[in-house]
Amino acid sequence: MDLGIAGKRALVCASSKGLGRGCAEALAAAGVELVMNARGAEALESAAADIRAAYGVPVMAVAADITDETGRQRVLDTVGTVDILVTNAGGPPPGMWTDWDRDDFMMALDANMLTPIALMKALVPGMMDRGWGRVVNITSQSVKAPIAVLGLSNSARAGLTGYVAGTSRQVAPHGVTINNLLPGIHATDRADALDKGVAEGEGISLEEAQARRAATIPARRYGTPAEFGATCAFLCSQHAGFIVGQNILLDGGAVNTVL
Ligand code: NAP
Repeated sequence: MDLGIAGKRALVCASSKGLGRGCAEALAAAGVELVMNARGAEALESAAADIRAAYGVPVMAVAADITDETGRQRVLDTVGTVDILVTNAGGPPPGMWTDWDRDDFMMALDANMLTPIALMKALVPGMMDRGWGRVVNITSQSVKAPIAVLGLSNSARAGLTGYVAGTSRQVAPHGVTINNLLPGIHATDRADALDKGVAEGEGISLEEAQARRAATIPARRYGTPAEFGATCAFLCSQHAGFIVGQNILLDGGAVNTVL
């Protein structure tokens, strides 16, 4: 399917690896020019080079912490204007509800709520002026089905979800859509880190922890960054202009709800 977005320009945050990279690759495959971002310069430059070589689109790479105001401003200064924004950042660590103090919450809110909001505030007005734009926020399945040990993530992402619910309706008249993509478990470094925690806690191997988790998913497997990216690219396509303010689960059926 022609997504109709060849020649558009996208900022994909936190995209040297994992789900962000999946989104960057799928947009590049649709002919979109990219600005990619991550903190580690080496992995970022290498991912950018791979994507340039594979898809022949211009790719800029800005190594910066997107959750830090100075780093974010550096990204925004480089980006200029974009038609497509994919927000993403690392997820907060797991723990018990008694573990977290104000500083922990502020870090989680900064990374997973206030950073995407700041990026939207910076880039959506230009999209509205030009009458076309797409924003996809990578959030989590925990928005629909909170994961007990991820209380920091549950809290911050719930805040972003509420913000998007209202804002997406305010910008839609100007041809700009904002939607959230909610990953269930996907085979990335983040999933590895969570599974290693489970393996250590329960005294089992990493493979056993992965097998046990996969067995709880109706699809009986983890998702892949490529299929996540393909959904993101569709949401950024010309065909998705009527999808507004949605929270779309990609979880292999793990969250057992109807609506
Ligand atoms: P990942 O494989 O660990 O990749 C994270 C990517 O983000 C890397 O490129 C990393 O590069 C970059 N990054 C992290 N923090 C950053 C920051 N502050 N500024 C700029 N770049 C940053 O993670 P993932 O699995 O793709 O997860 C992406 C998001 O989806 C996370 O918020 C995660 O909590 C959420 N999620 C993932 C899953 C899953 O199963 N994978 C499920 C639910 C939710 P650097 O480290 O070099 O910066």
